[in-house]
Amino acid sequence: MKNFVIGPVEQYPCVKEVYYNPIVYFRSDEFSELVKRTIKKLSDYIGNNTDDSTIYLASSGTGAMEAVVENCVSKSDKVLVVNGGTFGKRFCELLQYHNKKYDSIDLSWGEVLNELHLSEYENQKYTMLFVNLHETSTGQLYDIKLLGEFCKRNHMYLIVDAIGTFLADDYCMSKNNIDVTIISSQKGLCLSSGMAFVSFSQKMLDKINNAEPTSLYFSFNQYLKEIKRGQTPYTPPVHTIYELKAMLEYIENKGGINSWLNFVQEKALYFRNKAKEIGFKIPNYPLSNMLTPLVFEDNTAKSTFEDLKNHYKIYVNPCGGNLADKLIRISHIGNTSIKDIDYLVEKLVEVTKR
Ligand SMILES: *Cc1c(COP(=O)(O)O)cnc(C)c1O
Repeated sequence: MKNFVIGPVEQYPCVKEVYYNPIVYFRSDEFSELVKRTIKKLSDYIGNNTDDSTIYLASSGTGAMEAVVENCVSKSDKVLVVNGGTFGKRFCELLQYHNKKYDSIDLSWGEVLNELHLSEYENQKYTMLFVNLHETSTGQLYDIKLLGEFCKRNHMYLIVDAIGTFLADDYCMSKNNIDVTIISSQKGLCLSSGMAFVSFSQKMLDKINNAEPTSLYFSFNQYLKEIKRGQTPYTPPVHTIYELKAMLEYIENKGGINSWLNFVQEKALYFRNKAKEIGFKIPNYPLSNMLTPLVFEDNTAKSTFEDLKNHYKIYVNPCGGNLADKLIRISHIGNTSIKDIDYLVEKLVEVTKR
């Protein structure tokens, strides 16, 4: 079996090994130390150097998105959402569900976000911008510089769902005026699913200092208080913390985050070149290194997905809704090699010849 999905991905052996090793009881100094060290390293990778400003939750990525809506958006806030696919829509649904005021920039498939989209929202008293920096459902990677500068000019908080871009593309909170970063365990980090991280700027920490979310379990202030001593209010995903430690060490041993990003990019570019060579069509909007969408103009995307799975046990990501027959997505994260990509390309050719 070969996995080219965006998560959970094929894990590295050092991460799998965690399950065979002993773990310590989590309400202990040893575990607290482990948490502090790993979360510190992770914060460095996110580009956040404010102390004790990254927390983690026992939930998938959407849980963290919802918790951010509850904790960070107050009654007086006016939110703008970049809605370019499934995940942008999810932010809209969450804001709607929690009765927050928002408007959305709705992009159709293939429409590249640019300054014209933003211009009509300049000086309109919006207080926050929500964006899924890599809209994983289509593969479009938005321009963080454009968004960061727009928010700075308009004195808006910038909330980034970086689940689809972290550890695949360059990412830095401090450089781009980002106030909240959301990531989850099963994507770029290549860990088990079920753990999410939220990282805050000092400005956002000040804003939520007195916030009272409707959820008790997801009250950020409790997590922020506990993380100072390397703890969480409730039982954390203990094994996944050990996985995180193993994975961060692995990345360090491979030369650190920049070498890691180069490695993921190398796989993405290799695949894209091969795919073009044999006549596949790749959209021309900006792409993340996390995945490559392939366009099937003859509407055979879904059947290609099925054929790869049924004949070769190769898993790629299908699409939903109106893109179901148009696109499949090939992931470049996880423990896959150039040789695996060659195999995938070979089978893609066979399947499309059928
Ligand atoms: C995967 C993903 C999520 C999280 O989805 P969960 O299934 O809740 O983990 C959120 N946003 C983006 C952009 C994603 O790619």
